Amino acid sequence: MKKHRNLPFFVPFAGCPFRCKFCSQEKITGCEGSAETLSAELDSFDSMMLHAGDLSKTENQIAFFGGSFTGIPKARMIALLERAQTYIERGYASSIRISTRPDLIDDEVLELLVRYRVTDVELGVQSMDDEVLRLSGRGHTAKDSRVAAERLQKHSVRFTGQMMLALPGSDERKELATAHEICSMGAVSARIYPTVVFEGTELYDMTVRGEYIPLDDLTAAKRTVPCLETFISLGVRVLKIGLQSSKELSTAPFGPRDGSLAELAYGFLYAKRIIEQVSGNAAGKTLNIFLPRGEISKFTGHKGVVLQELKQALLPACINLREDGTLSVPNVKIQIEG
Ligand code: SF4
Repeated sequence: MKKHRNLPFFVPFAGCPFRCKFCSQEKITGCEGSAETLSAELDSFDSMMLHAGDLSKTENQIAFFGGSFTGIPKARMIALLERAQTYIERGYASSIRISTRPDLIDDEVLELLVRYRVTDVELGVQSMDDEVLRLSGRGHTAKDSRVAAERLQKHSVRFTGQMMLALPGSDERKELATAHEICSMGAVSARIYPTVVFEGTELYDMTVRGEYIPLDDLTAAKRTVPCLETFISLGVRVLKIGLQSSKELSTAPFGPRDGSLAELAYGFLYAKRIIEQVSGNAAGKTLNIFLPRGEISKFTGHKGVVLQELKQALLPACINLREDGTLSVPNVKIQIEG
């Protein structure tokens, strides 16, 4: 079976009616479809396709990310989609995915997207709590996300729900409810982004004024666990946890800046499952913990923080971490000795 691969083409802030309080996408000025900017954009699209890779091994999907694709002026949107078609017709990719805001999805735009072989839409749901959306300056409501999800299903377009943690006014209960609702709205996959505070955003000013308290890496990873568990248990694939590792992320002034937040979050998910399974019977005993292949680093990475917390919670005499190739992520098997 061929491996799925996204060929990401970034259209930062394109189509966004305004900037959300936390957003640091760089605004592209003069990209409203003038001949020169569009032609430069299409040229850079062509150079991105040079990285299409070995077509016998990968099934590529062209991905327009970084803005609100369906808010881009129609002529520019169609020019981008048409350029993408030329590569689909030549076999470089099989389909297209886009990301957009829930309030920029209507039947007309969906008919256009489907015509141009867009099979997946990533919706920036962020939260299903209207107060959180308002405090984050999103400019849409939870109802907009529900309506958008229904429209996507009507047009047989798959939907990925993007949600954020620790937005202004948010808490674990609201985040868990958001994860549940993304599943019940029919998402096939999800992305979880703990909020990072970048300079130049309104959220940065709020943080400096003490009106917003950002999370640190460990708290962000732990706070991810209930949502991650919900998606896994309801069969919704988690495509990403945390922002892509980058210089911009590692130098962000506040918030979780660890580019491998997913590793930590899965580590804490394993730890939670182990503690539940052992249920207080491990003190002074030897625990043999069997993990799926390649997962031991979730315990030993980040200076072994997950392993340390497990030891503190269970007080075992000894913990042995072992691989079991028959287990799938994130399942775990435990033997207690002594
Ligand atoms: S809609 Fe998305 S890309 Fe646009 S400003 Fe808001 S968060 Fe940023």
